[in-house]
Amino acid sequence: MGRPNIPMKRHKDKRRIIKMGTRKKVHAYVRIKPTDEFAYEMITFGEDNKSIDIHIKKDGRKGIINNQQTDWSFRLDGVLHDASQDSVYDTVAKEVVAQALDGYNGTIMCYGQTGAGKTYTMTGTTENYKHRGILPRALQQVFRMIEERPTHSITVRVSYLEIYNETLFDLLSTLPYVGNSDTPMSIVESPQGIFVKGLSVHMTGREEDAFSLLFEGETNRIIASHTMNKNSSRSHCIFTIYIEAHSRSLSDEKYITSKINLVDLAGSERLGKTGSEGQILKEATYINKSLSFLEQAIIALGDRKREHVPFRQCKLTHALKDSLGGNCNMVIVANVYGDATQLDETLSSLRFASRMKLITTEPAVNEKYDAERMVKNLEKELILLKQELAIHDSLANRAMVTYDPMDEVQIAEINSQVRRYLEGSLEEIDIINLRQIQEVFNQFKVVLSQQEQEVEANLRRKYTLINKNDYVTITAVQKAGLVDVEGHTVGETDGQGFGLGIAPFSAKPGKKGKFKKSFRDLAGLAKKEGLLSPVSGKDIDSLSTSRTQLLSPSKEVDVKDVPSRDREASSSEPVASDSPKEDSRTTRPGTPPPKPSAFEEFKNERGSEINRIFKQNKTILNDRRKKASETAQRINSIKREIDTTKEALDAQKTFREEQGEYENKGLMIIDEEEFLLILKLKELKKQYREEYQDLRDLKAEIQYCQHLVDQCRQRLLTEFDIWYNESFLIPEDTPAPLKAKGSIKLGLLPLSKLTSLAEDDEDKFGRIQTSALPDCPDSVSFYNARMKLDQKKNYSKTMASFQNKKPGPVPAVLKEKSPSDYNLP
Ligand code: ADP
Ligand code: MG
Repeated sequence: MGRPNIPMKRHKDKRRIIKMGTRKKVHAYVRIKPTDEFAYEMITFGEDNKSIDIHIKKDGRKGIINNQQTDWSFRLDGVLHDASQDSVYDTVAKEVVAQALDGYNGTIMCYGQTGAGKTYTMTGTTENYKHRGILPRALQQVFRMIEERPTHSITVRVSYLEIYNETLFDLLSTLPYVGNSDTPMSIVESPQGIFVKGLSVHMTGREEDAFSLLFEGETNRIIASHTMNKNSSRSHCIFTIYIEAHSRSLSDEKYITSKINLVDLAGSERLGKTGSEGQILKEATYINKSLSFLEQAIIALGDRKREHVPFRQCKLTHALKDSLGGNCNMVIVANVYGDATQLDETLSSLRFASRMKLITTEPAVNEKYDAERMVKNLEKELILLKQELAIHDSLANRAMVTYDPMDEVQIAEINSQVRRYLEGSLEEIDIINLRQIQEVFNQFKVVLSQQEQEVEANLRRKYTLINKNDYVTITAVQKAGLVDVEGHTVGETDGQGFGLGIAPFSAKPGKKGKFKKSFRDLAGLAKKEGLLSPVSGKDIDSLSTSRTQLLSPSKEVDVKDVPSRDREASSSEPVASDSPKEDSRTTRPGTPPPKPSAFEEFKNERGSEINRIFKQNKTILNDRRKKASETAQRINSIKREIDTTKEALDAQKTFREEQGEYENKGLMIIDEEEFLLILKLKELKKQYREEYQDLRDLKAEIQYCQHLVDQCRQRLLTEFDIWYNESFLIPEDTPAPLKAKGSIKLGLLPLSKLTSLAEDDEDKFGRIQTSALPDCPDSVSFYNARMKLDQKKNYSKTMASFQNKKPGPVPAVLKEKSPSDYNLP
């Protein structure tokens, strides 16, 4: 048996949680049966009443253990000498029973030779209430404690099992409502614990009913006659009280269960002493066996190094498997005689008790979950969360988002989206909710595996595929000269780029220099032919690199558009084309030209198109600025006029008030001059508003134009840098990918990237994704929606900032951005 020392243990059934408590020793007591012949010289007690010492005279009588040792001292938890049933209960059982109501299992056992008082201790006399034992008192305590806990609904059930000659008997099977079962009872181990299959368990709502059950069981006990005590039981009896406590508050789905095992063991006296025969001998053998198995189990439990505890050797230990040690509160009472004649059995019982004391247990609450309550509570929670989600959706403007599982049609739609996305006909797949995201990934997987299969099928149709690890076949094929060392099929061409193909002529390594060499000529030519545009520039760029695998067949066709002079040069003058250095000697100046003059040259040649756009934008921008400045001036003069008109009107008003006001039927009468002033003011305000509206529009336009101008300028400069570096600085034989590194190539950047105003938001979203999402992956859709909302807000805020300006003087000239290092137009 493993001894878990983790604080919380979750069982397989997932509904049962045991909270581990602190370690505790088994409590062991000794109870001495009252006798007139108490052996005072042989049995003495410690002052604290927790130890018992045995002294035997060396020249002892026959039957006394014949070894050297004459003195023994046993340290226990208490010596019960001349103790009343009442005080025995308080010492031995009260705490165990109390803890059972809090969810702790408890086991109380009486051990000892026949007639020593086990049954008296456990059951007591059934005739005399005062002499009742632990059993009826425990039942009383349980019912009393239930009364004290109105917050809980607590049920009590009992069973009474007898083990006689390794056979299980149900001591309560005689009750009229217990159906007769033909199948013998058996001990069953289940995830919920040990139970005896076929044993009747009786619900008892009242103390009185519980007592009736107890008495019923007592009368059913099999009593065997014995030489030493006629009434002594020759069997083990286990009375079990099962407790289950549910909170009356429905929200609490946890409940606790516990059981108290009250065990009256059969006499522990050894076979030789009894002198029994026949049936009694058989009983005695079984008893001795089961008690020695009990001892073995206890020794194993006490030995912390032992992994295995032999519980299943007999019915007694098997039935008590989860009640010995483990998570139980456990108490043992050794019942002994005080007479000198019984000293050897007394010694043996005391040894048993002190061995029991070595066992450590970890009493723990048996907490379980009420599945039905839990489902109900989860349903409630689910409804609440759905409502919460609906609120979030409406706040985030995500109308009509459903969270139900997807049906076939929806999944098919996602599959088609994924396919379109992969083809490129769908730019992006909108994120809707977590379920949809998961399904998108799922469909990616589906499409991927389908495509893999298709590719392989295609390959198989075209080629004979050989497993790379299949060396025998590969060598055979190699010998036959069918494949080269790398496994490519010799001589095959493959348009899709598989196998060994023929590279397009333009892409052959080493030819790059030729395109390079005459770039200027080419540019000049192209310009003449009206070819130079950012697009054609890009194409030329691509052609001048050696990224052959990126060239699509359509690009190869494009090559035809390139002036034939160069094509001819590449094919008919291989020597010249393979030595780009020669070219540089002829075209490149020794030292690079100064940048300002090179820039002028660039603007007229390769950069002419972008320069033209740049100039256009700049002109528009300047025009709008000028207009804005004029409008601002007009606004200011209107404002001044408004102010003077207001002043005049105020003067008129004060004059009127000083004169005493005329009133006609509640209407104020004002003179014509004042009336004209009011009209003028009204007209001025109207003009002011209109002009202000114009200014606002102009400003928005200016901002937009400014942005375009900045971008054009940037592109012009970047392009110039690339051109300058390639033309004058970078050695011409540098691999193309290195040249391109770190610079943005004209036309290679998607326009959406350049004009994107939402970079910050995207960064922000990225940050949230990395910080918040791992903790709460379900929030993807929520944050997504939030981000869209924020972007919308930012946009309208920017627009509103123009509109919300209060009337007031406007700077006549709008500040221009700082000019670049270069002499830009
Ligand atoms: P066991 O069950 O161990 O065989 P019992 O409990 O049947 O022994 O006890 C044998 C007899 O001794 C009974 O008649 C019982 O009433 C009596 N007896 C045992 N212990 C006490 C005690 N502490 N006080 C009074 N009588 C006792
Ligand atoms: Mg007995």
